[in-house]
Amino acid sequence: MAATADETRVVEGVKTQLFIGGEWRDATGGGTLDVEDPATGETIATVADATVDDAKSALAAADEAFKTWRHVAPRERADILRRAYDLINERTDELALLMTLEMGKPVSESKGEIAYANNFLRWYSEEAVRINGRFTTNEAGNGRVLTMRQPIGPCLFITPWNFPLAMGTRKIGPALATGCTCVVKPAKQTPLSMLALAQILEEAGLPAGVVNVITAKSSGSIMQPLIEDERVRKMSFTGSTEVGKKLIAQSAEQVLKVSMELGGNAPFLIFEDADLDAAVEGALLAKMRNGGEACTSANRFHVHESVAEAFADRLAARIGDMKVGRGTEDGVAVGPLIDEAQRSKVAELVDDAVGKGAKVLTGGERVDGAGYFYAPTVLGNVPANADLLSEEIFGPVAPITTFSSDDEAIAAANNTEYGLVSYVFTQDVDRAFRVIERLETGMIGFNQGIVSNAGAPFGGVKQSGFGREGGPEGLDEYLETKYVAMNVGVPPTKL
Ligand code: NAP
Repeated sequence: MAATADETRVVEGVKTQLFIGGEWRDATGGGTLDVEDPATGETIATVADATVDDAKSALAAADEAFKTWRHVAPRERADILRRAYDLINERTDELALLMTLEMGKPVSESKGEIAYANNFLRWYSEEAVRINGRFTTNEAGNGRVLTMRQPIGPCLFITPWNFPLAMGTRKIGPALATGCTCVVKPAKQTPLSMLALAQILEEAGLPAGVVNVITAKSSGSIMQPLIEDERVRKMSFTGSTEVGKKLIAQSAEQVLKVSMELGGNAPFLIFEDADLDAAVEGALLAKMRNGGEACTSANRFHVHESVAEAFADRLAARIGDMKVGRGTEDGVAVGPLIDEAQRSKVAELVDDAVGKGAKVLTGGERVDGAGYFYAPTVLGNVPANADLLSEEIFGPVAPITTFSSDDEAIAAANNTEYGLVSYVFTQDVDRAFRVIERLETGMIGFNQGIVSNAGAPFGGVKQSGFGREGGPEGLDEYLETKYVAMNVGVPPTKL
């Protein structure tokens, strides 16, 4: 399929080399890696394939830059972040097209991600000048306690393909605001958005080495030596729980401080008194945003038996109407999955549920032709032993099961090793809080199907990880606390 002039222009506008120490350079040995459009399966760009030596050079650059960046005036750091925010705003259309080409989501959703991603730069540009400590009198009154907060140091950031820009800015924004430097490794399927961000940061005046971007085919082999390098002081990873566990093990070597934003298996609870219209709207957002390829995606709908059929019919009608296609086409609501492996996994999970007795209310099959499309699907009467209730689906599939009491709903919701987000739909605020306080997740959508917000702490419990991104908590991840016991001040008065 021939690329349009706009598509060619935005892809050709991205520098595809490694960004190390403020320079764009080829990988040592000249290796490259292809980036494909998941809607067509065609190669759209070729980027550098970093070696271990390249990765070490990137870390050396981050380490060197930290010596000065940490002492740059907070206002200047803030201004650079703010300039990058303005540039991204100006270029949203191009960045959105680029994101759609490498990741597949509809352009309107790419624009939504860019706005969300960019808000982290704005929010943390505003926080950069408000990093403070504490000064108190000790308990005995004979000394003072000074608590200062300092940037932790050079960081490693590893990000997934599903939100190619936002998963980077959630880390880069607070890191830069505090005075940290970083090496960023985006997913191999979607490196272009991060490379475009590096160009924008450079244009915004970011000094050389503060942000370094390396792209690679073999993430494990280039990242492990960095994770074990004592110059690194923090790692923040967003991705699967499976890979997260490996990285936690590697980081134990030097007791590295880590943040882990891992997988999810979000329950979406609809009680008998819920506003069903609002529940359907919330469900569409929580399930179909990003084609279901989101860690926050509603993975299973637990609906009170008295309203389950009505909810299922309405949801199936809306989801069945969604236009599937290349994200660049008008009116498309659902793009392709990221690759064939992901599509096969979704197909297997649906087949398993149907084989065990689930009823297909809409969809339930691959879409023929080029690209990795899967029909938006709603499954009713899903039995408790269906694999997709316990595994992250990461696709446009909504399984519906029923419950008959609040206790049963809560037990079903918590019956998972994951704990990222839950959604609760009820009009009874007392019930909502009885339920919310017992749900084992780091975030809750209460009568709403989206929780992402740059000013709020995003993150999970249980095997969905630890650490928070967004809000003041997101800044704390990049600050070390130093306490000074001070033998100063007016001595205490004896009574
Ligand atoms: P993934 O396979 O875990 O990959 C994530 C990142 O880790 C990619 O950059 C990947 O590089 C890299 N990686 C893989 N193996 C590695 C290793 N041994 N050492 C170092 N890096 C390694 O996850 P994904 O399939 O890209 O993303 C989907 C997952 O991310 C889902 O589970 C989703 O729930 C989770 N997620 C969580 C959040 C959150 O905030 N909690 C947000 C978004 C996504 P390559 O591309 O080279 O493999």
